[in-house]
Amino acid sequence: MGNIFAARKSVDPNPDPVLMGSHLDTQATGGRFDGVYGVMAGLEVMRVLATHGVDLSARWKWPRGQTEEVHGCACHAGSGVVAEPYAGFRIQAYRQIRQELQGELRAYGYRGTAPARARPFRAMFEAHIEQGPILENLGATIGVVAGIQGAYWFDVTLEGLACHAGPTPMEMRRDPWRAATTIIESAFAIAKTKAPWGRATIGDLKVSPGARNTVPERLVVAVDLRHPEPDVLEEMVAMFREQVAQTSARTNIDARIELIWHMPATRFDTELVGVVDRAAQDLGFNRVPIVSGAGHDSLHTAQFAPTAMIFVPCAGGLSHNEAESATSADLAAGANVLLQSVLCVANN
Ligand SMILES: [Zn+2]
Repeated sequence: MGNIFAARKSVDPNPDPVLMGSHLDTQATGGRFDGVYGVMAGLEVMRVLATHGVDLSARWKWPRGQTEEVHGCACHAGSGVVAEPYAGFRIQAYRQIRQELQGELRAYGYRGTAPARARPFRAMFEAHIEQGPILENLGATIGVVAGIQGAYWFDVTLEGLACHAGPTPMEMRRDPWRAATTIIESAFAIAKTKAPWGRATIGDLKVSPGARNTVPERLVVAVDLRHPEPDVLEEMVAMFREQVAQTSARTNIDARIELIWHMPATRFDTELVGVVDRAAQDLGFNRVPIVSGAGHDSLHTAQFAPTAMIFVPCAGGLSHNEAESATSADLAAGANVLLQSVLCVANN
């Protein structure tokens, strides 16, 4: 999968290393901080330990996932493929990615020999920009991440009948837009009924054939539904499915819902979350508990290793945008919390 591990040597061959890391790739419109920060923070911790000649009972590993964001069909594939056998759910997209990547990795010289499999790890810490506005709005420096909210990705295909925009009377049309506008609006309404944590996003929409003077034959609506509580998320999905069924029947449109990806709501290791919280407190940083609205590699490592995350604010909460930014002071604060957290775990 192109995952890269750097290991710090230790005198004690402790079999369970502590990990730090994140991903190096980002979205097409992404900036310089999403993922990269967690890798740089891990590198900085390694550098500090080396500079000060600190030896630890645990060995250290610093993984860099290469494939959190690159493919449109599934997120965090670098860690996802590793975690898949442990996750209790299978993602077809990961298998496709695994095959697609082989040629690419060979071309770039990143095709490794070690299998993309989980190993026993003592702990995994991932530092990351928040990618949302909560820390900035609260004036907090550190987000102590309790977990990651769950998400479902669906493609909703709506099929009607293509016809001429001029001669065809409105009442004689089978226009998939008539269903789509209601279905899209209902997705937003469902998220609103589950406020403040419910989320509904229509990130893409494909129109076929896509001509101004033709009623489209087919629309494919890309839907993303999220909530931190698994039960509530399932309820949102059920409500959405019901809306699609009702609306398509009423508008005489054929509807099909395809599950593209599922990210289960994940709670991080309570003990490690406490370690991060204490580290931030000891360092005197203003800290708040937070649930991640975005998915991360930690979602997957949490399937097979105790995992926790450290958030720092990003300017305006903006991410997946080239204007993505964060202050040096906040980034340093996050790296220091990372250092103290891994020291705490390694010394226990
Ligand atoms: Zn990321």
